[in-house]
Amino acid sequence: MCSLATIIPPAIVWLVLRRLTDTLRGVAAHDPLTQLLNRRGLGELLDASFRRRNTGARLLLVDIDHFKCINDNYGHHVGDAVLCAVAGILRGAVRKDDVVCRMGGEEFAAICPGGDAETALRVAECIRSSVESAAMLEGPGYEDLRCTVTVGISERFADHASWERAMRAADAALYRGKNAGRNRVEWALPSPASDPVPTLQMGVELVRAAP
Ligand code: GH3
Ligand code: MG
Ligand code: MG
Repeated sequence: MCSLATIIPPAIVWLVLRRLTDTLRGVAAHDPLTQLLNRRGLGELLDASFRRRNTGARLLLVDIDHFKCINDNYGHHVGDAVLCAVAGILRGAVRKDDVVCRMGGEEFAAICPGGDAETALRVAECIRSSVESAAMLEGPGYEDLRCTVTVGISERFADHASWERAMRAADAALYRGKNAGRNRVEWALPSPASDPVPTLQMGVELVRAAP
């Protein structure tokens, strides 16, 4: 009895602390607004995948076009609801093994494991067209509330160094997509360290949204 009394309480305390730690870790890894993984959560996931053998992946950076106008015209709370709607559309547009996260503000990311260029392009185009065709909010006053996204696709990455390059390349592609008119998918230009992409021509405009 005496030994049980001394063993059980520490065991219970340990279990409670363990559960609390897991919960806190989960909270820290997710965006409270959309419930998607946040940048930190994505980093932890990628760290774990880089430690294992992995076949590589591509990063799709997704940025809502002219999001500030939505806040300005409808208010910040509607902007928040649009962020949640876009998060839901992204979840529905990607494949089962793809990972979606909110990088911050009105910027999201999808990770497409495998690194196959054509697949990444298909997912990116599905995201773009799904957002373009979706009604963001139901109800009177929101009939004209539409939004579009621009997507930058990175080269294939498989470790920390190539991930850093992929982030910069996807960001540069996104920037080019914005300058080229938005509502479009744009490829990263190939860097000297990147894998060749056999089936698609790199550095050219691949998808142009209908005018
Ligand atoms: P662009 O097409 O060039 O991306 O233009 P943009 O208006 O989408 O981009 P900009 O960077 O000018 O504005 C982003 C806005 O997103 C400004 C900021 O107030 C707003 N924002 C960032 N985070 C949140 C959020 O959590 N909720 C809401 N409602 N707005 C946010
Ligand atoms: Mg934006
Ligand atoms: Mg942005």
